[in-house]
Amino acid sequence: MRQVEGREWWLWGFAVAVTLVLTFGILSLTFPGFHLPTDRLYTLSLKEWVRGLVALVLLFDIYTVYQHLLLQRVRRQLAENTRLFQLISENAADMIAVVDTNGHRLYNSPAYQRILGYSPEELAATPATHQIHPDDCARVSEAAEKARLTGIGERLEYRIRHKDGSWRMLESTASAIRGPNGESEGLVIVNRDITDRKRAEDLLVHNAFHDGLTDLPNRALFLDRMGRAIAVARRHADFKFAVLFIDIDGFKVFNDSLGHATGDALLIQIAQRLSACLRRADTISRARFDDSPELPVGENTLARPGGDEFVVLAEELGNPSDAIRVAERIQEKLAVPFSLGSHKIGVTASIGIVFKGHIGNEAPEELLRDAEIAMYRAKHSGKARCEVFDNAMHAGAVKRLQLETDMRKALEMGEFLVYYQPIVSLGNRQIVGFEALTRWQRPQGIVMPGEFIAVADETGVIVSINQQLMLDSFRQLRRWQELFPGDPPLTMSVNISPRQFQQAGLSAQISQILQQSGVDPNCVNLEITETIAMADAQKSAVVLQELKALGVHLEIDDFGTGYSSLSRLQRFPVDTLKIDRAFVSRMDSDPETHEIVRTIVMLAQNLGLKVVAEGVETEEQVEMLKRVSCKWAQGYLFSKPAAPPAVERLLECNRRRAVPLHRAKAGASSAG
Ligand code: C2E
Ligand code: MG
Ligand code: MG
Repeated sequence: MRQVEGREWWLWGFAVAVTLVLTFGILSLTFPGFHLPTDRLYTLSLKEWVRGLVALVLLFDIYTVYQHLLLQRVRRQLAENTRLFQLISENAADMIAVVDTNGHRLYNSPAYQRILGYSPEELAATPATHQIHPDDCARVSEAAEKARLTGIGERLEYRIRHKDGSWRMLESTASAIRGPNGESEGLVIVNRDITDRKRAEDLLVHNAFHDGLTDLPNRALFLDRMGRAIAVARRHADFKFAVLFIDIDGFKVFNDSLGHATGDALLIQIAQRLSACLRRADTISRARFDDSPELPVGENTLARPGGDEFVVLAEELGNPSDAIRVAERIQEKLAVPFSLGSHKIGVTASIGIVFKGHIGNEAPEELLRDAEIAMYRAKHSGKARCEVFDNAMHAGAVKRLQLETDMRKALEMGEFLVYYQPIVSLGNRQIVGFEALTRWQRPQGIVMPGEFIAVADETGVIVSINQQLMLDSFRQLRRWQELFPGDPPLTMSVNISPRQFQQAGLSAQISQILQQSGVDPNCVNLEITETIAMADAQKSAVVLQELKALGVHLEIDDFGTGYSSLSRLQRFPVDTLKIDRAFVSRMDSDPETHEIVRTIVMLAQNLGLKVVAEGVETEEQVEMLKRVSCKWAQGYLFSKPAAPPAVERLLECNRRRAVPLHRAKAGASSAG
């Protein structure tokens, strides 16, 4: 438009010039004094002059009309563009604003009223930055300045106040309005309301770092906070903090007995109670490290890494006893019963503590792991306790890790062997069956189950070890049953570990092994300790029923070491009780133990259960057991667990019946 207007000026200038020329020409023809010298006009007659002038005027007119038409078209286009701009800006979902170089509003599209509630008059009465959040104002002004200088500004997000006082989040881009010489004359700003999108994005981020059930920070966020605490501790020698690993004792039992919904409700209540008791106001003084902007100093961070576990990052502690006090307070608060519907539930927790003063290169994951190790120590030493992590625990954990690796290798190398310990009938000392017991044949010698079974169970390696053991021992049984047939045939007892017992599909797995080995399930005894069976009686009953359906016999191992009574065991489809060695070994010296054994045998037989005495080492024990009507036994007196060739020699003796078993054992190469 400016160009066209410029051309219009030029046209007017040209018109004035032509008028002057015409005036001058006519004057020169009209007034004698204005006559041009005839010698200079020798070729032009008056007629030609007039014709020339008329042509000039005509040309000028044509040009004027042409320019006028051009101008008209540009004006129409401009009007059309203005109408289009208005149409777009007034119907656009985005808010469009035009401001001058001083930040005064020149135009605000109607979307402003729709989205932010301000009328055009209200906007016109305030400067463009008036409603912007004070914390964002500087950023917005800077971006506007940049847009003025460079032409197009960067995409920017900032908060603006709605007329109702709430804050909305806008996404904005600004473009400079340029003058004819390229100078900036203002800005066109397009603002989009992204409040809802932002909320959704924030929610996604929140969910990524928080636990869905309790809304506490999750493991990832906790590790991040720990990382920051470590960074502060590295810079400030006297910044000390602790990580507390809290595990609710026996939570599985609550979950299984009251249902998962109640279990979840309990976890939420625990989270709330922990948050309340960890609030900083009533704990240790704070604000000594406020110069570390990266950390919200003095905060106690509570997080839920998963399941029934909670972790606490307690900062600015003086010494480990401060952390123990925090743990004790947690224990106290949890001890107050929780109300869940009609239930009142008392909860205890095992707490592992890692206290950190001078920090080295430790990673957050390592500290969390150490706290967990300490928690396990607390759990193993009797629950409802707390333990502070020390180097011995670390050494223990490293050893366990090494053991786990070695066991996995041993599995591949076939280093796990099966030894068999006979079970005899006390009446005639005949071998009626065997218990299969694992041995680990390492280059440095045989390792006994006591040294690795517990770790194998915790790490899950036991599942593979026992699968192999079952297959080997069942095949072995078939072979011995063929070589040494009897009536009833020989039996094989195998131990089921806690981990195996909890494993889904255990019965399917055993059924497959039974088929693979071709053994008669009726000759197989599965030993489950009393503690495993009682841990979750309801679930145990289901699993035991499934196992029983395979046609195998079920035995309760180490009976007397748990807390159950015979009447509670009655619920389970068990066939045999194995009285723990601890009772048998004391029965000849302690009358009370003798009485216990007598009662167990009597009650068991009343319930139709077979009883096997474990760990029989003396003839006195045999006599006593016989007197209380115990019919079967197992122990070093008859044979230590032995490798198959030695067992075969025993079976040979057994067949001949010539040599009593306790004398034949001297020939067997024992290894137990
Ligand atoms: P358990 O099932 O109660 O096995 C009996 C243990 O008592 C065996 O120890 C056996 O050697 C020992 N024993 C038997 N008679 C006597 C005796 O007269 N005196 C003494 N002092 N001990 C006797 P072992 O083989 O060391 O096994 C210990 C425990 O390890 C077993 O106790 C069982 O719970 C577990 N275990 C062994 N092998 C396996 C296995 O393959 N799988 C599973 N899950 N656990 C196993
Ligand atoms: Mg056993
Ligand atoms: Mg036992």
